[in-house]
Amino acid sequence: MQYYSTNHIAPPATLAEAVKKGLAPDKGLYMPERIDRLPDEFFENIGNLSFHDIATKVATAFFGEDIPAGDLKKIVCDTLSFDTPVVNVHDNIYSLELFHGPTLAFKDVGGRFMARMLSWFINRDSDGKKVTVIVATSGDTGSAVANGFLGVDGIDVIVLYPEGKVSEIQEKQFTTLGQNITALEVAGNFDDCQRLVKSAFMDAGLNRMLTLTSANSINVARFLPQSFYYFHAYAQLKRAGKAENVVFCVPSGNFGNITAGLIAARMGLPVKRFIAANNRNDIFLKYLISGVYTPMPSVRTIANAMDVGDPSNFARVMDLYGNSVENVRKDISGCSYTDEDIRKTIATVYDRYGYVLDPHGACGYRGLSDNLGSDETGIFLETAHPAKFKETVEDILGKEMEIPARLQEFMKREKKSIKISADFDDFKNYLESRA
Ligand SMILES: *Cc1c(COP(=O)(O)O)cnc(C)c1O
Repeated sequence: MQYYSTNHIAPPATLAEAVKKGLAPDKGLYMPERIDRLPDEFFENIGNLSFHDIATKVATAFFGEDIPAGDLKKIVCDTLSFDTPVVNVHDNIYSLELFHGPTLAFKDVGGRFMARMLSWFINRDSDGKKVTVIVATSGDTGSAVANGFLGVDGIDVIVLYPEGKVSEIQEKQFTTLGQNITALEVAGNFDDCQRLVKSAFMDAGLNRMLTLTSANSINVARFLPQSFYYFHAYAQLKRAGKAENVVFCVPSGNFGNITAGLIAARMGLPVKRFIAANNRNDIFLKYLISGVYTPMPSVRTIANAMDVGDPSNFARVMDLYGNSVENVRKDISGCSYTDEDIRKTIATVYDRYGYVLDPHGACGYRGLSDNLGSDETGIFLETAHPAKFKETVEDILGKEMEIPARLQEFMKREKKSIKISADFDDFKNYLESRA
């Protein structure tokens, strides 16, 4: 299958090119040329299928022409070494728990899938050149990508993160790994990190020296596999007899996760509507209200993985809806919550229902509890384990939380990072020194 750029200037790319490049040369984002509708009988029968079967079917729709069936199935099954269960919180509100992977956030799915797919292409094409994956993180991407690629031959990973703006647990998950993983601590915010990465891709000199690729959610190999768990969530509701009028509420930052849901819906998944839940970085909500997209510098919140002022996947949402805000409004509504709202929500949901939300999932839960109709079934994406935000959540609940063993392992190790400024020349010098 071919992939076109949302800017429509760069020529179409093969899957291998789109995965290796990440961003298209015209700065657009790659989109699959077709989004095939899956057959009705797949949805009728979906309640009887396993997560691996469902995900393999979805993966085949996109990647089946490019990767042999057996290899693709292996990539899918290796990626999904953990489940994404749907848990009832109360009444018609369900939590899709996406934190059962190695780094306890949903980004494990895309990170693990991309690592496996990229190394499959590198093996096949065996041009012998090392690939350098650069990734900007607001917290959870870095750990998922770094852990997904750890020890993979032929691939070096450089993680850029904003100094002092990620939690200690998040930081430990990508600064303690060593081997082929390097962490750069940037004196700036997440948008600076993202800008440095984009500038590196645009720099002709650097691209002659190094084969650079991006593992941000702009990469099709990270973003498309996120559709797997929307189907699996629907299958679980179907088994529970609750699959009518399904509403997904997605805590959103760069909008990669919700875009994967929109793609699932295009493939025929019966979703009634979507809600994009924001923290105070509510550029998308403002766009829905005014029809005008105005990127803004991000502000810091306790749901820090959503502190994004210029969501990179906005271009994909526009592409899917023909640049029409009226069309977007038919499928997606928005909401925005302050830190105070988030705190209250975490406290209330724990008091009333005994369910511990993380600050991101709290926005998702709130988006449903404020907006869901009585004839609808709402699923919010619980995007990270609350223990990843231990200090915040313990402070709100006034009690200690149990830390899963796989997180405790990271906490014991020593942080190693290289400090750089937010100036592109600094980053460029560093990359040149590696070439
Ligand atoms: C990355 C992240 C988000 C935002 O996801 P996008 O795909 O960037 O919209 C939400 N919650 C958590 C915990 C995250 O790590």
